[in-house]
Amino acid sequence: MEKLKILIASSEVAPFAKTGGLADVCGSLPLALEELGVDVRVIMPKYATVKVQGDETTIGKNIKVYFVKNDYYFKRQELYGDKFGDYSDNLDRFAYFCREVLERCKHEGFEPNIIHCNDWHTALIPVYLNTMYRDDPFFLGTRSMLTIHNLAYQGLFPKEEYPKIGLGWEMFNIDNFEFYDKVNLMKAGIVYADAVSTVSPSYSKEILTKEFGCGLEGVLANRAEDLHGVLNGIDEVVWDPMIDKKIYKNYSLQTLAENLEDRFANKDALQKELKLKPDRSLPMIAMVSRLADQKGADLVAEIIDNLLNMKLQFVLLGTGDNKYHIIFDRIAKKYVFNTSINLRFDATLADKIYAACDMFLIPSRYEPCGLGQMIALRYGSIPVVRQTGGLKDTVKEYDAATGEGNGFTFVEYRSKELLGSVKRAVALYQDKDAWANLVRKAMSQDFSWKNSGAEYIKLYRAIIGKE
Ligand code: ADP
Repeated sequence: MEKLKILIASSEVAPFAKTGGLADVCGSLPLALEELGVDVRVIMPKYATVKVQGDETTIGKNIKVYFVKNDYYFKRQELYGDKFGDYSDNLDRFAYFCREVLERCKHEGFEPNIIHCNDWHTALIPVYLNTMYRDDPFFLGTRSMLTIHNLAYQGLFPKEEYPKIGLGWEMFNIDNFEFYDKVNLMKAGIVYADAVSTVSPSYSKEILTKEFGCGLEGVLANRAEDLHGVLNGIDEVVWDPMIDKKIYKNYSLQTLAENLEDRFANKDALQKELKLKPDRSLPMIAMVSRLADQKGADLVAEIIDNLLNMKLQFVLLGTGDNKYHIIFDRIAKKYVFNTSINLRFDATLADKIYAACDMFLIPSRYEPCGLGQMIALRYGSIPVVRQTGGLKDTVKEYDAATGEGNGFTFVEYRSKELLGSVKRAVALYQDKDAWANLVRKAMSQDFSWKNSGAEYIKLYRAIIGKE
């Protein structure tokens, strides 16, 4: 078979620029594809955070990363906006980026089989391929795929800005760009991409419903045959408790074979650092999350009194909506001895928490994939999650009778249900042997990109084969 040529276009790619999981995915998927024999290249804007000289670098063994350079548009402190809100020229910026992606392919003489686009920032690429560039012989063999990482962010702009896209008004209608009298880039991308995917199988089904479709459920239903769900992976090298330099003591399945001592050393040290009681018998429950409505922090706040009246410790690391900062500030003052509330972004503390805590909470309202539960499992902290989206695909309720399952789950978005699953986890924690076995089982699971990379390749080939 001929070598696949794939261009991954994304607004964020770790380690060059990151505001969320999108960057992690676009930074680690290419590495997996390269290992699987794909000629994969990556393209992103050259933001101020990109500390590379020139407009190109490499990652992995020999993956070219192209930067689209335009200091006026991209050399800014933040990616999408500042404290006053979104940048007012975001449509100019990303329409420009999308066109430059196509121009750069020509400039480099790289004719991709597939341009793999990610979220609304790159959603104009499939549209341009089918309009402005439709008759361009260079792109005759190029197809497009749009991956939706979070449907809640669609790239909505006022109608008056439509001309900036460079296409005629005849495309401003409900079959193309128009969405309640606004411009919707994600919608147009979904309409024009050769295939659409989301980051977990469950989320790809959920977004066809009114509850999760964010108004695009109808548009997605029209593409149901071309809609796929491929679970994200995590980078096994970045997230490895045996080599992670940020944690207090490295450990692995091997070093925990007899007992969990090396892992407990992390708990001891974190309790000390966070000024919590140094007591291994108290379950440490943690949450590391954006504090947004999506993430279920409101459920945690509702049960906080019940939770903290149990014998346990609660650690939060998160930043986001001000209303949650106020709520958790209050909780920190009320429960001085058994909580550690850290309202900031701190990658080092995050790793220490993954390595130290016993349980990891993700009670999301919706979750396209979620990386936190996969990282937690790899570090041996047991996820307590709501069964939605990617959480449902990765965490299954533990069954003491059969030993099946890897965490604790609940279905309805209700605080009582969350409390119930925390209680089941806390009860199991009292059984040291059963708990240690669950920790080892969690750590032995494979959430690497190997499987998902191969699935993407299958999908790419199916798109190319489809005429
Ligand atoms: P999302 O992309 O919706 O925020 P994910 O679970 O896909 O959620 O990815 C979030 C990642 O960001 C996780 O690895 C999590 O540990 C990390 N993270 C979230 N908030 C913080 C924070 N305040 N400090 C450090 N890391 C954080």
